[in-house]
Amino acid sequence: EAKRSSKGGYEIFNDQFGTSIERRFQMLSELKFSIYNDELTCYYQPQYDYDKKAIVGFESLARWNSAKFGMVPPIQFIELAEETGFIKQLGRSVINQTFAFAKRIKNPGIRVSFNTSPVELMQADFTDYVIERFRYYELEPQSVAIEITESCLIESFDEVVKKLRILTDCGICVYLDDFGTGFSSLAYLKELPIHSVKIDKSFIDEIVSDKVGRDIVDMIIRLAHRLNLKVIAEGVETQEQAQCISDCGCSLIQGYYISKPVSGENAITLLDTLKTC
Ligand code: C2E
Ligand code: MG
Ligand code: MG
Ligand code: MG
Repeated sequence: EAKRSSKGGYEIFNDQFGTSIERRFQMLSELKFSIYNDELTCYYQPQYDYDKKAIVGFESLARWNSAKFGMVPPIQFIELAEETGFIKQLGRSVINQTFAFAKRIKNPGIRVSFNTSPVELMQADFTDYVIERFRYYELEPQSVAIEITESCLIESFDEVVKKLRILTDCGICVYLDDFGTGFSSLAYLKELPIHSVKIDKSFIDEIVSDKVGRDIVDMIIRLAHRLNLKVIAEGVETQEQAQCISDCGCSLIQGYYISKPVSGENAITLLDTLKTC
């Protein structure tokens, strides 16, 4: 792509990402198109209770298989959408797909979470939209959860807490994603109406080989449980890691060890093959 466009005699590179502005522009217009063309879909990765050997939930993860660009990693197109304001429409598509999927699940007690970026959360009509959709799909309370990151909390903490309270009052759970990777103080934890923290994969990577790494994870789990929060360990790839986390007192895991993110169809099949609570 870059080669071809340079024939035109112009090529502007964005230093930070090494992506030409032209390519970004093309990507954005394809991304906009993709939402109406079903190229942007959600995949679902199981969240698993290792002790009970049962699926307890799924995380919805956006996938973009572009006719023009092939599979584009979420990190790339989410960032593009955030920077251009398109995240609002993208986020709404994700919410609708996720809620429709949650509605399809007949097994009681399974909760489906979706990711939200700070830009989405700060939209004035965000909570209204989520609640309207929650009612439209006639979802059971506790059947969906919103994942936020610490970066959502940096700017207007009180405002975010207010929004999250509105959602939790309707029975929507809140998970704190990538826990431990931000720079916020721990003091905010007690103010947040959250249900679970998700320990970032970077901590799990070290857990078997590194004693200090394991101590840190152990401490995070104790702290969260002490605050009555559930803990989900992310990016668990091996049985050793799963066992290690379980030994630290956390039985909820998500990662390739259980399953990669799969299509909605295949996720429903997983529910039948892997046991549920
Ligand atoms: P995240 O929410 O922390 O999602 C977890 C990421 O780890 C996913 O990458 C998942 O596929 C990957 N993962 C899970 N288990 C394993 C494992 O065992 N090994 C490895 N190597 N990776 C694993 P993905 O799907 O590429 O998403 C990356 C990030 O993009 C997400 O991080 C989230 O921040 C963002 N994202 C994805 N979908 C959405 C969305 O619909 N909306 C928003 N706002 N952000 C999204
Ligand atoms: Mg997440
Ligand atoms: Mg995460
Ligand atoms: Mg992450």
